[in-house]
Amino acid sequence: MLRFQHEINNWEVNQVASTVLVTGGTGFIGSHTTVALQKAGYRVVILDNLHNSHAYVVDNIAKITGVRPAFVQGDVRDPQVLASTFRQYTPDAVLHFAGMKAVGESTALPLVYYDNNVHGSVTMLQAMQAANVRTFVFSSSATVYGDPQQLPIPESHRREATNPYGHTKLVVEDVLANLWESEPGWRIARLRYFNPVGAHPSGLIGEAPQGIPNNLMPYVAQVAVGQRDKVRVFGNDYDTPDGTGVRDYIHVMDLAEGHVRALEYCRDCDSSELLTVNLGTGQGNSVLEMIRAFEQASSRPIPYEIVDRRPGDIAACWADTQLAEKTLGCRATRTIQDMCDDAWRWQTSRVE
Ligand code: NAD
Ligand code: UDP
Repeated sequence: MLRFQHEINNWEVNQVASTVLVTGGTGFIGSHTTVALQKAGYRVVILDNLHNSHAYVVDNIAKITGVRPAFVQGDVRDPQVLASTFRQYTPDAVLHFAGMKAVGESTALPLVYYDNNVHGSVTMLQAMQAANVRTFVFSSSATVYGDPQQLPIPESHRREATNPYGHTKLVVEDVLANLWESEPGWRIARLRYFNPVGAHPSGLIGEAPQGIPNNLMPYVAQVAVGQRDKVRVFGNDYDTPDGTGVRDYIHVMDLAEGHVRALEYCRDCDSSELLTVNLGTGQGNSVLEMIRAFEQASSRPIPYEIVDRRPGDIAACWADTQLAEKTLGCRATRTIQDMCDDAWRWQTSRVE
């Protein structure tokens, strides 16, 4: 309760602090990034339509940081909402997380995905142009590398999309490059995330998938808590040490802190900038290793069965992190065990 007494409104904090607009800020990565931004002294305005998140996340961010971000419930495809948000809050940068991210759903609903992810991004960029705001941090994905030709994957790796979701990321990356070439003054970071997992160590915010989780770690967490019977491990005949898929899992707070660095990099550069950088740990872990780490975090056995490979899956994927270290001074420090411990705390403490 004491925490509430100390809670202050975002706008009373510091009149000279920079204000940033975080779209999708009540979602998984956006909420953790809001915490990291507030800790770094930024004032945050969240814009989210709550399609895949809940308004209580704003309360929980305030409990963690002691500062309540401003919240606008609205859609990034709505030019009027964007114009009034820019007018009211005068942000000088945008971190754009809002979008849809389920690969399978994107194959079933491609128009919804292009509308939300591509049209939504273009509408935001138009609103930024009108408001003369030219610093933009974009949530891209390692999915733009398709089936990797080399490991670790450098940013120069060829890009390909194997599904509509991935294609929306490719298109927006290209829109940003074209915009940067056409108009001086844009400072743009295209951040390619590997596999964000974990939760804030407070257990107050985390990943809250609706329905059956598509991703491994939220599924494992639901098995550990008894909500689902067993994990289905999609294939153990890959060319990897234990035959199961290998990915570069990064703690969501390391990812969040990477955004603060990327924002600072953009703000500090002399004029225009188009930065494209991987955010991962540079380490690969298998499905079975992740299940074992979660067993340790939860002190419970996690039953699993090996089933067929999931169509479209690749064997292994991890990031070359040299550019992130060189340009952003960014190095992930949290371990797989931290990721599982924090995800378990979130899974067992969340109330909805
Ligand atoms: P999330 O679904 O938890 O968060 C996205 C947020 O955006 C949600 O709160 C949702 O309500 C909001 N939103 C969606 N469409 C909107 C719209 N039209 N207007 C306003 N708000 C809208 O997803 P996340 O995991 O936090 O992902 C954030 C971004 O990072 C997405 O663009 C995603 O594609 C990208 N990304 C995620 C991952 C991952 O594994 N989580 C990996 C790579 C890239
Ligand atoms: N995976 C699995 N069972 C699941 C979900 C995922 O075995 O229920 C595997 C998947 O085949 C991949 C890894 O876990 O090797 C990570 O999958 P996720 O969907 O989390 O991320 P992505 O495939 O997008 O990297």
